[in-house]
Amino acid sequence: MSQSSVKPPAHAPNPEVPPVSEADDAIVALRDVTKTYVSGSKALIDLNLEIKRGDFLFITGPSGSGKSTLLKLLYGEERATAGRVLVDGFNVCELRGDRLSELRRRIGIVFQDYKLIPRRTVAENIAFVLWAQGFDRKEIERRLPPALKMVGLPHKANSFPEELSGGEQQRVSIARAIVNTPPILLADEPTGNLDADNSWQVIKILRKLNAIGITVIVTTHDEALIRQSNHSVVQLCNGRLYSPKRYNQPKAN
Ligand code: ADP
Repeated sequence: MSQSSVKPPAHAPNPEVPPVSEADDAIVALRDVTKTYVSGSKALIDLNLEIKRGDFLFITGPSGSGKSTLLKLLYGEERATAGRVLVDGFNVCELRGDRLSELRRRIGIVFQDYKLIPRRTVAENIAFVLWAQGFDRKEIERRLPPALKMVGLPHKANSFPEELSGGEQQRVSIARAIVNTPPILLADEPTGNLDADNSWQVIKILRKLNAIGITVIVTTHDEALIRQSNHSVVQLCNGRLYSPKRYNQPKAN
């Protein structure tokens, strides 16, 4: 499958806002971030993290260690209790309304449970995102085929989610996440419901997207998958971050 079938994202930082941090090539920076939920649960504690534009990063750690919360801070679903969260030039903690929508248009998100609309076809599920963002019909029709091709599912355009395997549904959700060519892709336990083969399929697609310039951030507690992948890893434990490491046992293909 051609890697050029989906256009690479704009590599330049968002021109309307200052750089994300002192380091020009950082697309994500968390500075002394703490997140305490109203329940009193401390999900993240004094977290510092910088992710470079074009990186592929795994965030690992046991259940309840704060992985989902970290991603939610990046796309503004939750707000940090203290510290600063900078994403692609946006100071996420201060975003409201249109500016928050603008940030979210620059982030594709993939969830463990796919979140596809059941009574819509694959093509309609993917097109819906573009329609909601104001793309016209011609542009939607232009973008759909390469997105489906990228995930290996052009022949499933008219299928309904219930007619697809879990692995296929997750691939549709990846197509939906990248059809508007965002510079950042967040995947929260994308392989959590999949067997080993389908998990590896998903990781291979995420790697292809990374190869065309998308910054990919994946949470997983699947150590075997991380070992196969040979990408940078940070580990969360009880809301604290441990230093990056890299597993050096890449799978051959
Ligand atoms: P992980 O993704 O690693 O499983 P989470 O980020 O979901 O971890 O959760 C981290 C901690 O925050 C856990 O103790 C969890 O119970 C708590 N938590 C997560 N979401 C909420 C919420 N909406 N309200 C209160 N506590 C929460």
